[in-house]
Formats: sequence, structure tokens, C-alpha cells
Amino acid sequence: MGFILNADLYMDYILRAAKIIAENKEYVTALDAVTGDGDHWANLNAGFECLVSEAAKLRQMPLDAAFMRIGMLMMSKVGGSSGVLYGGAYMEAGKQLGGKAEMNREELGKVLKAMLEDMMQRGGAKPGYKTMIDSLYPSVIAYEDSLQKNLDDRELLKKVKKAAQDGAEATGSMEAVKGRASYRTDKGVGHLDPGAVTMSYQIGALCDFILEKLIDKQQE
Ligand code: ADP
Ligand code: MG
Repeated sequence: MGFILNADLYMDYILRAAKIIAENKEYVTALDAVTGDGDHWANLNAGFECLVSEAAKLRQMPLDAAFMRIGMLMMSKVGGSSGVLYGGAYMEAGKQLGGKAEMNREELGKVLKAMLEDMMQRGGAKPGYKTMIDSLYPSVIAYEDSLQKNLDDRELLKKVKKAAQDGAEATGSMEAVKGRASYRTDKGVGHLDPGAVTMSYQIGALCDFILEKLIDKQQE
């Protein structure tokens, strides 16, 4: 039991997430056109395109340094609230991993938690505010819960992915407290939060990547 991720593998995940984000241009843009200013997909996609173009360099780095660099690139390329939130969170992930060239499953849990806490502190959003936090928070809880129960990797990853997806779905009935949807009289009720949806794509891609590349292969 247990998997190890280094920067080379992490960049494989980034490529996978970049593809899923690129494929969902119309859907995410339409969501953000209703409750936001319509640029969330373009912001995040620009950031991922930049990471893909820098992938060869990032793959060579120790994972902590790669996270720092990803954070800086996202901060400068993504723009909007997402750029600051993802940028800050990745830099925090780099600090959390300080001195380590790779991470195991316990460390990935700590990294995700550190990213969540940084995003919540930086943006002032709590769970239930109808933001990307509503996908990340339940997945961190599912991660910690699965570690505590000592579930195997496959079960842990499935639970984390499902928690992220369910969390994004749950934003549909939430009233926005933070972000542009909170300026609307209906507070966005009836519409999914685009940032929660793209967060669930990223967490889902990470879980699927680890499952397929690091776990299914081991068992073949
Ligand atoms: P902007 O709000 O500047 O238009 P983006 O378009 O890049 O930012 O991203 C919008 C998404 O960012 C929202 O759907 C929401 O999930 C997230 N978001 C906005 N403000 C916050 C915040 N204060 N805390 C956490 N997430 C936020
Ligand atoms: Mg926007």
C-alpha cells in the first residue's frame, strides 16, 4: 500500500488535468457567465497551458521546488481570484513539502490540507460559501478520514474523487457568500459554482491518474 509522486509524475497529472479543463471550455464558461464575469475557464486554462509549456523544466525539479514554481506561474498567468488562490496554495504546498523531492500518500494528504487552509485564509471563504472551497474541503476531509480508517489506496482515491464531485454538485443549492455570485440577488442559487467544478476536475484527474498509473500498474 502506498504510492510515491515526484515532479515528473506530477507533471503527467498536470497534463491530464489541462486536457480535461481544455475540453470543458463551453460548459465552464457558461456556468461563469451566469454567476460570475465569464472568464474563469479562460483564466484557469491559460494557467494550465503555461504549465504544460513549462513541463519539461518542471519535471526535472524536486517536487517542493516544482510546487513553488507552479505557484508563481499560476499567480502570474491565471489572473482573477483563482490565480491568487491557486498561486498561493501551490506555494504553500511547496513550503509544506520543504526539502522533499517526492511525496507519499500521507504527505499528499498534508499538502492538500495545507492548500485548503491557505485558500481559506487568503480568500476568506468557508465551506458553504459557494466557491472552489466547497469541492476541496470535502475531499480533504475524505482523505483524512480514509487515512484514519487505513483504507487501501484504491478506496481512498475513489472516496476523495467522489467527495470533490459531490461537493461541486452541492454548490447548486448554496447561496454565495464570497465571489461574484454573492453580488446577485438570487446569490447564484440553482447554478453550480464554476470554481468548484474546475476544482473537482483537478482532484478527479489527480485521483484517476494515481489509480491508473501507480496502482493498477503495480497490480498487473
Ligand atoms: P473572479 O472572481 O476574479 O472573477 P475567477 O473568474 O478566476 O475569479 O474565478 C471565479 C471562481 O473563484 C469562483 O467560481 C469561486 O469558486 C472562486 N472564488 C472567488 N472568490 C473566492 C474566494 N474569496 N475564496 C475562494 N474561492 C473564491
Ligand atoms: Mg472571473
